[in-house]
Amino acid sequence: MRAEIISVGNELILGNILNTNTFYITKKLTEIGIDVLYHTSVKDDMQMLENVINIALNRADLLIFTGGLGPTYDDMTKEIVSKTLGLKLIIDEELKESIENYFKKNNRTMTSNNIKQAYIPEGAKYLPNDIGTAPGIFIEHNEKTLVLLPGPPKEMKMMFDKYVVPLIKQDFIIIERTIKTIDIGESQVESILKDIITKNKDVYIATYAKDGIVDIKIVAKGKNQDKIEELLNKTIKEIESKISDYIYSYEDENIEEVVFRMLKENNMKIAFCESCTGGLITSKFTRIPGVSEVFDRAYITYSNISKVEDLNVSKKTLEKYGAVSEETALEMAHGLLNKTNVDIALSVTGIAGPSGGSEEKPVGLVYIGICTKNCSRVIKSMFSGDRISIQNRAYLKAFNELRKFILNH
Ligand code: ATP
Ligand code: MG
Repeated sequence: MRAEIISVGNELILGNILNTNTFYITKKLTEIGIDVLYHTSVKDDMQMLENVINIALNRADLLIFTGGLGPTYDDMTKEIVSKTLGLKLIIDEELKESIENYFKKNNRTMTSNNIKQAYIPEGAKYLPNDIGTAPGIFIEHNEKTLVLLPGPPKEMKMMFDKYVVPLIKQDFIIIERTIKTIDIGESQVESILKDIITKNKDVYIATYAKDGIVDIKIVAKGKNQDKIEELLNKTIKEIESKISDYIYSYEDENIEEVVFRMLKENNMKIAFCESCTGGLITSKFTRIPGVSEVFDRAYITYSNISKVEDLNVSKKTLEKYGAVSEETALEMAHGLLNKTNVDIALSVTGIAGPSGGSEEKPVGLVYIGICTKNCSRVIKSMFSGDRISIQNRAYLKAFNELRKFILNH
């Protein structure tokens, strides 16, 4: 089904408000497998609106309008849609009563122009407005579906979710899955997934990037539950085969929660020593309820001397290689492990900037050390961005490296 979203209102065209309705509806339609092909915004102008409707009827099957359903004379969506389709507006007694009741309930006086809202095009259904007066309208006419929704976002969302979605998705089942990835850019994910994305018509795959995490959302639709599941599993396997290293979860959870679960399952205790992340890793980790089962302690060893005093890093190492180096990261983790009784120790040292970088050691250079009694490793990374994003990336990377380390050992 091809859809067009038409938002009506001068204020949208004049740049007074952001068109959040179109954004919301597009997202929801896409998730239920409907192709949104066009976004149109139009002024409160009869002729322009009529033109827009005629164009949309020629290129889409589902037309969703928002705005212009109110009682005033500049609200004309319903009138122009009816006129363009050649449908008469007739009063709906039940609707009239519900509008009257709304006014009584809210102690407001109903003006004569509110009666205008009780008229609907012949053959159409009205959609109740539980939190306002303007009802929505659902029209099926000549194999086209037209949905008219009020402009205020709260009313529009409520009506769309409660009444419109069930009406338009009734004849197929939709199942949704999410794959959470880390340490890979959105464009990289997209280019790797390109073949899969375009191959299957009944599967919709989209990526959403936020703060270093890329979610891959997979939506499959069809009439048969088993077949949809099969299709989803097949698609997920295909995706796994291409980017398995970057997938950290299939649930809606954070990377630190995954690490917490793994530590718990393996009966392991952990400690952190943080330099450039200044406690961010610890703070994120200790937000998880029950973390005391696996978490022992953390040090924020920001200065060189604290690395020597608290973690036993040798002065020589600091002098020779510097605080931000593979050697220091390793000695930090080793020192922490020796000092405590934990099974695994994590260290982070880097240059978060904006100052303090050099040609040899630029801003964004971060070393992560992981150490157990039997083995240790150091991961070198280069992050871009400002101080906050470098710290954030370091925290995500640290947990992802922990995840991989525990998985492989
Ligand atoms: P009302 O009965 O309130 O007049 P209406 O259906 O006639 O509702 P409009 O008058 O077009 O809707 O818009 C009412 C308000 O809703 C606008 O002032 C605006 O704040 C908000 N609004 C309208 N369209 C959008 C949109 N596309 N995105 C976000 N907000 C919108
Ligand atoms: Mg209005």
